[in-house]
Amino acid sequence: MPPNEKLQPSSPQRRTPSDRQTEVTSSQDSRAWHTESAETVRRSWQTGPEGLDESAVKRLQAEYGPNVYKLENGNTFLKRLAAQINNLLIFVLLAAALVTMLTGHQLDAVVILAVVVLNVVIGLYQEGKAEKSLQAIQKMLAPKAQVMRNGRLITLDAEALVPGDLLVVASGDNLPADVRFVETVNLQVDESALTGESVPVTKQIDPVAADASLGDQLCMGFSGTLVTQGNAKAIVVRTGMQTEMGRIGRMLKEVQSTRTPLVQSMEKFSRWLTVFILGFAACLFAYGYGFIGMALPEAFMAVVGLAVAAIPEGLPAILTITMAIGVQSMARKRAIVRRLPAVETLGSVTVICSDKTGTLTRNEMTVQSVVTTDQTLEVSGTGYAPQGEISVVHGNNAVHAAPDPSASPDNPVSRDTSSGGQPVHPDSPGLTLIGLTSALCNEAALQEEPDGNWTLTGDPTEGALLTLAMKLGLDLTQIRKESQRIAHMPFESEHRFMATVHRASDLPGSGGTQSEAVILLKGAPDKVLTLCTDEMGQDGVGRDLDMAYWNEQIEQQASQGRRVLGFAFRPDVTGVDQKNIHTHARDLTFLGIVGIMDPPRDEAIEAIDKCHRAGIRVKMITGDHAGTALAIARSLHIGNGERGMTGAELERLDDQALREVVREVDVFARASPEHKIRLVRALQANGEVVAMTGDGVNDSPALKQADIGIAMGLKGTEAAKQAAEIVLTDDNFASIVNAVEEGRTIYDNLKKSISFLLPINGGESMAIGLAILLGVALPITPLQLLWINMVSSIGLAMVLAFEPAEPGIMSRAPRNRHDPLISRFLIWRILFVSTLFLCGIFGLYNLTLAQGADIDTARTVAVNALVCMEVFYLFSVRYLKAPSFTWIGIQGTPRVLGAVGLVVALQIIMTYTPFMQTWFATSALSVGQLGTIVAAGVALLIILELEKLVTRRSRKPETRHT
Ligand code: ADP
Ligand code: MG
Repeated sequence: MPPNEKLQPSSPQRRTPSDRQTEVTSSQDSRAWHTESAETVRRSWQTGPEGLDESAVKRLQAEYGPNVYKLENGNTFLKRLAAQINNLLIFVLLAAALVTMLTGHQLDAVVILAVVVLNVVIGLYQEGKAEKSLQAIQKMLAPKAQVMRNGRLITLDAEALVPGDLLVVASGDNLPADVRFVETVNLQVDESALTGESVPVTKQIDPVAADASLGDQLCMGFSGTLVTQGNAKAIVVRTGMQTEMGRIGRMLKEVQSTRTPLVQSMEKFSRWLTVFILGFAACLFAYGYGFIGMALPEAFMAVVGLAVAAIPEGLPAILTITMAIGVQSMARKRAIVRRLPAVETLGSVTVICSDKTGTLTRNEMTVQSVVTTDQTLEVSGTGYAPQGEISVVHGNNAVHAAPDPSASPDNPVSRDTSSGGQPVHPDSPGLTLIGLTSALCNEAALQEEPDGNWTLTGDPTEGALLTLAMKLGLDLTQIRKESQRIAHMPFESEHRFMATVHRASDLPGSGGTQSEAVILLKGAPDKVLTLCTDEMGQDGVGRDLDMAYWNEQIEQQASQGRRVLGFAFRPDVTGVDQKNIHTHARDLTFLGIVGIMDPPRDEAIEAIDKCHRAGIRVKMITGDHAGTALAIARSLHIGNGERGMTGAELERLDDQALREVVREVDVFARASPEHKIRLVRALQANGEVVAMTGDGVNDSPALKQADIGIAMGLKGTEAAKQAAEIVLTDDNFASIVNAVEEGRTIYDNLKKSISFLLPINGGESMAIGLAILLGVALPITPLQLLWINMVSSIGLAMVLAFEPAEPGIMSRAPRNRHDPLISRFLIWRILFVSTLFLCGIFGLYNLTLAQGADIDTARTVAVNALVCMEVFYLFSVRYLKAPSFTWIGIQGTPRVLGAVGLVVALQIIMTYTPFMQTWFATSALSVGQLGTIVAAGVALLIILELEKLVTRRSRKPETRHT
């Protein structure tokens, strides 16, 4: 035993968890695993093909801790505080407080400071909450790993991996730790994240020189790199911060910013507005102080009031919150947003390109028929349980006529399928081999649970084949144990077949064969047929391929919406191993086909209808046969049910021709990932906003190219998830449509917040500006404005972030993504409402004065009138264009009513409590005055409803788009 080959691999390096914190780069990695043989590594970690056992895992977990990167959180409290304070308005207010103090208005200064503090605290709290909720959502995407433990293949959070674990990886996986490969099949790994080298590296298991650089350590795999092809078994040797990636600290972790392009442009807008307002305020100051001779403190307070009135300080925060709330609600609806800007794009999606299998269909596969050279058999039963019978429907055409008593070529036994025909035994040689191939050329596993249900690990297509094998009477456990494979070619969407090689002597019923090895192969039948030179005759001897017969049978199965798989084998191959298997997978004997049913999801049909109403086109892209695709498309209402195109046809088109085709064709069959990317490009060239689904590693480019890449959370690879903007946690098409609806809702709500807040600022600043110009007293004091803007307005605007979708949201066309958020309509609305607010404030203020009240009372009336109009305006703005005078509209949501109740209570406190009266110079109002105030609010609502009526009438066609 070499000196370094201890039974306890880490005994010289044993450390307590606390040591580890202080010296992260020591020991675990001090051993050069790449120089040692796979066997040595295996023995060092005391792990075999069964993987670690429970107690070893516990021990190693205690020793090495969780497999996580400890990330420095750059967003410290101080930084966040600084970001909150670094806001022009806050500076304006602080300056105002200082001047107020210097001019002897201590109380005013204190109130201003209190409002500033309140604003910062609320801002900090809300931003923190938004960020936390986004992080929690991202956690739902925690990477998983497949490991052997205790002889069972299990899936667990990558965080739970320990050194010594036997990891099973396949193309599309992100390596979750540093590993030493012990078994590889065509394994290629993209290590660009670590080494910058963009060409994938082919991995193997032989040790390499001690001084090999990371890129040359071909037997090693590194955390954070991506398996692009093949599969492998590997032993974890370093985890967490000890991995190469952990040590260099260059994590793939993307820091999510809550600032989407839209929020950013709104921030820019309000910054620009602030500067403009300050300039304007300076002019007014000069006018008031220098021209009409206002006293200095008075003039100063007047322009501070103007600035406070006009700057929409709450807006960016409200937008961020709206976004965060929306993303949370999307996550509840099974769509996880990985990149926030996607939220904005979702609302303008015009085309959704979806995979068929598993997204539009249920991915619950059942073999329903088997066609051999001479028989068509029907298989009954549903699900993965091996309950069901196999019965002969009829013998097939004359050439293939079987001397079978149950059927004759001239007189096919027609039979009532529901009553079950004659059960058959797999005694025909073709059928026997189809059963054998189903069992052995298969990566899936079925397990019977105590409750009698059968659960599947692996690909549903293969699960269905296992069930078929059992229905054919095969004992899977035994047969899989006896006939271990000596080589295999995994299924890849590109070649659409899978093959395994077995020792001939291991196969059941191999009594007489002298051959060394047998190839079993299954895949898309058109593909499999190209690899075959003959077909299996009734007598078990090969004979000429009858292509016409097979094509007809394939069409026949596909036209019923069944997924079709072809089977073939090669009885005698010699000298085949993992390295040369691809050269042997030819000259095969075709065995037959099976038809597999995968029913459409009910909710997908509904969701597709919804898309059509919402002006969104749905396209299906599948690797399946065109006939299958069209049949399923018909049942889902996709396309016209007639026209489909295959990948091969698509390849013959140039980009220009493809642009024309994508306008017409909605079903693409036998399509591979490269076709997907061409389709996205063609659609985008036509001006469409494209959402595209994907799951495989090769889908990444198309997902990135699409405006919204959508990865499958359940069956999708890590590679696809990382390329996507959105991950579906249930792989369901309906969740995409829900996300689109949510995206539209969020956008609406952003718009509502803006159209709520801006006119209030507008009305306030017009009132102040007008007062200064006229040289009269301000109808509302700056302090009162601060109160309104930072308490009442924000309190009310906040509910708009939670607004549910308007009823008609999915019956209008997608928003044009180039339309500005602040449309002409919105500008009109802002100006119109601002003017109404101005009239209300000034009108009631002067009315109260005219009735003989003092100025404090008149101002109190103006303040309350403003807030009351805000409340009524909130109800109006909840439906931007639809009437608000509906029963549901008037009821509001509990949240709306809660916010209104709160704001009313606060206004009562502000108006009637002595201490608030001192702070804000308010005074108690009479019932009559309160009545006038409410009347002003009601009047505002009525006028706005009339305006909606008029604009709806006059701009009917346009309203659909905004
Ligand atoms: P889809 O878009 O429906 O997911 P796939 O690329 O998975 O399409 O499959 C395309 C075709 O490849 C199927 O119609 C089937 O004939 C064949 N196929 C699918 N899964 C397997 C598998 N595990 N082994 C062999 N062939 C398969
Ligand atoms: Mg598939």
